[in-house]
Amino acid sequence: MDIKEHIRQIPDFPTPGILFYDISTLLADADAWQVTMGRLANAVRSHQPDVLVGIESRGFLVAAPLALKLGCGFVMARKRGKLPGKTVRYEYSLEYGTDIIEMQEDAIAPGQRVVVLDDLLATGGTMAAAVALSRQMGAEVTGAACIIELSFLGGRNKLDIPVTSVVAYD
Ligand code: AMP
Repeated sequence: MDIKEHIRQIPDFPTPGILFYDISTLLADADAWQVTMGRLANAVRSHQPDVLVGIESRGFLVAAPLALKLGCGFVMARKRGKLPGKTVRYEYSLEYGTDIIEMQEDAIAPGQRVVVLDDLLATGGTMAAAVALSRQMGAEVTGAACIIELSFLGGRNKLDIPVTSVVAYD
């Protein structure tokens, strides 16, 4: 099955000049979504994770069902100020300014094997931040995975771990 056929491309969203890769159409198609999750599961299983970290917000849609499928835990990496209780944060650079992601301080135990998931890998800044935050908490990050990779942006070069994508755009 060609998963690309189920991903809608919307020009000029959220700002002019950006081509947005919309997974809503993939999520809405039961067969296509099941095939996508099956392919991701095969790749992620090989990293033998204890925990999957999903990056807010579409990363949750990928990581939570995959964690159920693989029988491992699911942890949220959220934007600043969204998680209750004590958190660990990581600040990273954007094109203009900085951003912060957080996890609850007890979300990952030192030494746990972690795979980080998001819907899409673009420049790699978001994924690299989630990897750094997981490591800050003592995790052994064994891989990263996404549905869509924008290969022409070279995001995987920012990561020092194996990266799996279901579809790539050159
Ligand atoms: P980056 O940090 O540049 O790799 O950006 C990845 C994050 O931004 C992911 O959480 C994506 O959901 C989102 N993102 C970046 N570019 C796009 C795009 N063209 N279409 C859809 N989502 C995108």
